[in-house]
Amino acid sequence: MNRRAFVLHEMGHNPLWLPRGTSLADDSPVTDTAPLATSAIAAPIAQAPLVAPAPAPTRIIPIEQPATPREQPISDWATLHTSIASCQRCELAKTRHNVVVGRGKPTARLLIVGEAPGEQEDRQGQPFVGKAGQLLESMLAAAGIDSEQDVYICNVVKCRPPGNRNPAPAEIASCASYLEWQIDAVQPTLIVALGRFAAHTLLDSQAPISALRKQLHHAHGRPVLVTFHPAYLLRSPGEKAKAWQDWHQIKCQLAASGKVTTSAS
Ligand code: URA
Repeated sequence: MNRRAFVLHEMGHNPLWLPRGTSLADDSPVTDTAPLATSAIAAPIAQAPLVAPAPAPTRIIPIEQPATPREQPISDWATLHTSIASCQRCELAKTRHNVVVGRGKPTARLLIVGEAPGEQEDRQGQPFVGKAGQLLESMLAAAGIDSEQDVYICNVVKCRPPGNRNPAPAEIASCASYLEWQIDAVQPTLIVALGRFAAHTLLDSQAPISALRKQLHHAHGRPVLVTFHPAYLLRSPGEKAKAWQDWHQIKCQLAASGKVTTSAS
């Protein structure tokens, strides 16, 4: 029985004429493929045409595909690495050569957060391995901080922005949960934010670096110090003296926590 005949039958209006081969006893299921027009229900039977309406076209309901493959919850470092390696959350996935998760000791007391991988980092899949990285290592050594033992380094964004452009807010937001996971996993005594993208992301602030330096902030329940990005220092070497002051403060902060081995001052 088609839908119209069924409804009329239920209302007590049995049709005067049925197409050959159709009976009211026909127990074929009532199709539910088209909404019933109100006018069809309300129309007096006398006005209804006595011809069986054409069957409503079958609606094909597409099965929705998720935009990105289902992501696994991150429970350990191995899953973090595989998740980031297959990440498609933003456009940077299309142009990267390698993802750059982080390097150093996952139990380090000092977590250093940079901006985003550059060309060398994109090639090698490691953070801070180019010129800015060399300067960072020099500053760590000068501050007496053992970068092998006491430091974990990562970036706000895990893939290189093409041409080393600034990471876009949407790209930073796409990567935010990876950075949060890293902070929670490392449980650092101190976080150092290198440059404005790291500082602004961690502190949810738009203040300039000059206003954020020298004070102890907090993010994710951890103390945070802000200093210049080494790439900025390469472009503005006149600012290096201020950076040395920052690294001295960083070393003192770590020493005060009593948890990081630093060389004698
Ligand atoms: N600059 C960054 O912020 N991160 C890197 O890994 C390299 C350069």
